[in-house]
Amino acid sequence: MYNKIIAFWQQRSLRFWLMSGLLITIIPFLIFSILTYTYINKRVVNPLLSLSEEQQAIFFPINQLQLATWGMSASVTDFLVSKQLAYKTKYEHEALKIKSAFRKLELASEIINTESLMEISRAKKQWQTVDKEARFILNNSQYNTMSAHKSSQKIIEFESKTESLGHTLGLIYGSIQSENDRLHKQSIDALISAEKLYLYVLFLSILFGIIGLIIINRSLISSLGKLTEGASKFATGDNKHTINIGIPLEMANVANTFNAMKKTIIEQRKELEFAAMIDGLTGLLNRRKFDELIEEKLEYANNTTTPLSLVIADIDHFKQFNNEYGHIGGDEALKTFAKIFGTAIHDDHYACRYGGEEFVILLPNCTINQAELIAEKLRVTVNNNVLTINTKKIPPLSASFGVASFPEHADTSEGLIEAADKALYKSKNTGRNRITRAQ
Ligand code: GH3
Ligand code: MG
Ligand code: MG
Repeated sequence: MYNKIIAFWQQRSLRFWLMSGLLITIIPFLIFSILTYTYINKRVVNPLLSLSEEQQAIFFPINQLQLATWGMSASVTDFLVSKQLAYKTKYEHEALKIKSAFRKLELASEIINTESLMEISRAKKQWQTVDKEARFILNNSQYNTMSAHKSSQKIIEFESKTESLGHTLGLIYGSIQSENDRLHKQSIDALISAEKLYLYVLFLSILFGIIGLIIINRSLISSLGKLTEGASKFATGDNKHTINIGIPLEMANVANTFNAMKKTIIEQRKELEFAAMIDGLTGLLNRRKFDELIEEKLEYANNTTTPLSLVIADIDHFKQFNNEYGHIGGDEALKTFAKIFGTAIHDDHYACRYGGEEFVILLPNCTINQAELIAEKLRVTVNNNVLTINTKKIPPLSASFGVASFPEHADTSEGLIEAADKALYKSKNTGRNRITRAQ
């Protein structure tokens, strides 16, 4: 199950990861913005807008009522004091204002709470009583000639009625004002929570933005980084490093192809290296490798004060053999020789074809005596080896040997080769098919 899930995600393309990264960055930001906008609109903007509408629809007529009630009361009082008919007109003017204000309140009844509506209808009734009384005063001729004392009594009586209307209007104003304050406070509270919400949303948007960037980074930038790192490591000689990319699929494929290519290059390099140190005809190490090895082993022997011996062998009368059995026959003999040299020695001894029909054996950690024994074993094996060329049995060949050791005979590679070569020369001169130790 777990592996299936991993495999599923590893199959996703670069386009998928880039799109996911971008969407994870953008979509939450959009959703959060819309949510915040809706919340602020619903909880803050709309209540504030309706508050201001109510202000227009309720406060304005109530204010108008209060002012007109005051003006209406003043015109009746002034009439009683001055008996001037002009105050009748003024009264009518104020009464009209009161009526229009009540009409406006009736129109706004939907947005007024029931408690205030009841107060308004009470105020209206009070107004009707006051209006009736006022008209009675203004239209009755007895008031035109009333004494000042009686007038002032009537004024007090009328004002007390007006006062109760004013009181009711004050109550309505107060109740609507407190409702208004409540709504206002609610909107302000909502605004404060909206600010907090906005901070959370900002934080979440940043969080999602970071997640989106991480996805893009993981899928593209870090994969590219891994590829570049892997390529440069390989270029600087680190063959062990393998590029590991999980996602995206395309980059994982590039990494796998690169790893496979690297493996092929390493194998080809090994083949080339092998080919460069092996002699094509005999399969033994070649002269080039021998030159390298002798330096290396000599340095080791020098550092560890251990002996290093060298055996040189040259086939006897090989020119003659070639003449008799042809070059191909000679090659066959060389291969057989190489086989004997290659198999008769130890794992940490090195048999090389020095050139033509000359062979060398490098013997690390071998004294001259041990080297002589190994050479003797080879000489005897060669001597006993019956060659078969073109199904024809040929009498065994022989070889002459020269043996020299570090540090007795020389302490450089050239010196050691020269010493062994001189010993070989001596073997040739003293009858061949023998071993000579260097002097
Ligand atoms: P000696 O006993 O003094 O060594 O006599 P020799 O005839 O072996 O003399 P020398 O070492 O000078 O001759 C080497 C011959 O080996 C000459 C050459 O024709 C032959 N030879 C060298 N390389 C090859 C090869 O790769 N294949 C064959 N078939 N012959 C080779
Ligand atoms: Mg020779
Ligand atoms: Mg020879």
